[in-house]
Amino acid sequence: MSHLSEEQEKALKILSELKDSQLLSHLNSCVHCGLCAESCMYYLATNDERFVPAVKVALVSSIYQRYCSFTGRSFPQLVNARELDDATQNEMVDLLFGSCTLCGRCTMHCSIGVDITYVTKVGRSMLAAMGLVPATLQSTVNAALQTGNNMAIPTDDFISTISWLEDELRDEVNDPQASIPLNQAGANVLYTLNPREPKFFPLSISAMAKIFYAAKESWTLSTHMYDVTNYAYFSCNFEEAALIAQRLYAEVENLQARRCVLAECGHGSRAFRWEAPNYLQHPFSFDVLTSVELLAEYIRDGRIRLDKEKNREIVTLHDPCNLVREGGIIDEQRYVLSHAATTLIEMTPHGVDNFCCGGGGGQLAMSEYGDRRMKIAELKADQIRRTGASTVVTPCHNCVDQLMQINNKFKLDVNIKTLGEIVADALVLE
Ligand code: SF4
Ligand code: SF4
Repeated sequence: MSHLSEEQEKALKILSELKDSQLLSHLNSCVHCGLCAESCMYYLATNDERFVPAVKVALVSSIYQRYCSFTGRSFPQLVNARELDDATQNEMVDLLFGSCTLCGRCTMHCSIGVDITYVTKVGRSMLAAMGLVPATLQSTVNAALQTGNNMAIPTDDFISTISWLEDELRDEVNDPQASIPLNQAGANVLYTLNPREPKFFPLSISAMAKIFYAAKESWTLSTHMYDVTNYAYFSCNFEEAALIAQRLYAEVENLQARRCVLAECGHGSRAFRWEAPNYLQHPFSFDVLTSVELLAEYIRDGRIRLDKEKNREIVTLHDPCNLVREGGIIDEQRYVLSHAATTLIEMTPHGVDNFCCGGGGGQLAMSEYGDRRMKIAELKADQIRRTGASTVVTPCHNCVDQLMQINNKFKLDVNIKTLGEIVADALVLE
């Protein structure tokens, strides 16, 4: 066995510490039926066998066998055990970071229930321990850690964007008292944002502000911590993920909000709502819900009134993997759309079986894999084209970004909207 560096020892410790029945069964149960191949966009778009999901499991399993099993330590060739050398590490980076969106579709299709995404995340966390997270992804995490938001937007710029949006809101609703509150203690809702919103898509902030105004909600944004994203969830450095989650947790407590509402962001919702209690090792002391659920609640409770005739174009819905397949939020956005637009044509497949947009798993941040990302996007372009829709709605800003690139590259000529935007377009203000 070759000499291992301190970082490699740390990576292997992750495997040995996780050595429980969950990890063992997912690493050792694959029966090589090949069914997962057809579920993965990377394989479907390229026919390259390296991209079969089971190959990713086999790669992590081969390292486990080499260092954590008696047979692999004594007779490595018998169990395809591999050294954690440069070649193995490079292959891990390429397959686990560069060829997976963590979409979870393979796990759902596996004939015997191997949790392929869990194994991929274990492999990513080993790479994180060795300092091998792609620099582009790590710099996004670093920006969040150092500045409080992943786009490093200075607070003054953020405040002036919000102030400008507040003026626009007052004009639009014809009410000089309408506001976009900042750092207001004791509000019912602390609303978060994806930093793409203040940077590139401020109109989605306007849309939610208009909805909050119509619902007469007591709400606030925070200037200290508004970022819903957590890219350390993708790098699988769980200490960094916990630091980012703790900041938002502390800000909700600091402002004494009753509810933390997560902006339209699939992985951000997953990382805070479902993963943060694990990262932080304690439950929330406030309610946490996604804006999709909040919009459905406002409609159900009659707090906002919509006229779907205002959106008469054909609409289709893209399901963000983390919200739908992983989070089980499937019907709420369909309920909202049934009130906000006249015609919804579903993609094939849709709901829990929908394809990823291609930009998940941190792919949008990892520009070195951009060509691959746009290659697998052909599948999403085909899905959209087949619906005949002129508007694609998705409750995720990361998906919006990827869908806009798909729209340009494949000349789909569609509008891309968040759920909040299409709801705001249908609002009937009293
Ligand atoms: S999680 Fe998605 S992208 Fe990753 S291997 Fe599975 S199907 Fe492919
Ligand atoms: S579907 Fe499951 S059992 Fe079959 S090859 Fe893929 S990972 Fe292995």
